[in-house]
Amino acid sequence: MTTAQPSPGAAHPGPAAAGQPALPDQRDAPAPVVRGDPVEVSDGVFVIPDNRVPLVPNVGFVVGDTAVLVIDTGLGPRNGAHVLDQARRLAGGRPLYLTTTHFHPEHGFGAQAFRGAATIMYNAAQRAELRRKGAGYIEMFTGMSPAYAAELEGVELTGPDITYDGRAEIDLGGHTAVLQSRGPAHTASDQSIHVDGRVLFTGDLLETRSFPIVPYFPPFDTDVDVAGWITVLGQFLALDPAVVVPGHGEVTDTTLIRDVRDYLDYVLRQTARLRADGASPDDAATAIEKDARARWTTWDSPYWIGLAVRAVYQAGPPERATT
Ligand SMILES: [Zn+2]
Repeated sequence: MTTAQPSPGAAHPGPAAAGQPALPDQRDAPAPVVRGDPVEVSDGVFVIPDNRVPLVPNVGFVVGDTAVLVIDTGLGPRNGAHVLDQARRLAGGRPLYLTTTHFHPEHGFGAQAFRGAATIMYNAAQRAELRRKGAGYIEMFTGMSPAYAAELEGVELTGPDITYDGRAEIDLGGHTAVLQSRGPAHTASDQSIHVDGRVLFTGDLLETRSFPIVPYFPPFDTDVDVAGWITVLGQFLALDPAVVVPGHGEVTDTTLIRDVRDYLDYVLRQTARLRADGASPDDAATAIEKDARARWTTWDSPYWIGLAVRAVYQAGPPERATT
């Protein structure tokens, strides 16, 4: 077991940097607490829904005959302990595995509750990204809201027991989970979990009824790769899952994969066009945000449109961004 050490370079995340938009104001946000019972979304596969509470992820459980896999922990040690309790209830003494869809705080920063109670498994890039950025994200999220700070109190960045590269399969007895490295996309080290060729956990590569979360926080974190993300969504469509569990928002189907791919593709093309015309990042962000809000009227969190534009803008000329 390794515990990631704070990186000195991660001490000053981007929200206050000159010329960058501030993070959304979350001071009045509800407490980011995982609540409710697991709901069976497919044979042996359960989700505690996020109920659209900010910074609560969809938490997954795959209950096999011989072991149980937990997917994502919630934000901080108290949520992690609650998710562990729920896992134990479902497992009835069977051994536990824990994995996370990506290293972000609300998905993985409850992992310390699982230390010694589950076999923790990440891909190697996830472990590295957690070590590199974990401390900076604690600082950023703590500063966003007292409710977030309260959940992060006492958090310890928790590394894996096992790492893998590329792809790993966990046989849970009657159910199989395939863990696949997908980054860089939403983060440098996203991971999908594909259960029985039927249920796909995508992490924040998808959110239902929301503009995709594009964590472009220069200079602290600029690893989001919109072109790579679009490629991954094509890979997801090729898997043709019957059930799609996004990082946030309602459990759904492949329609969401198409919708998000269309949106990211639109941002990529529009940004490339405006950039080539000499628009500044600010001007491109303003124009595209206005247009996107008019097109995707049922989606929450328009805040992320501008960050998507900035991420694409800085990624460079369209040759690189073409998929
Ligand atoms: Zn998330």
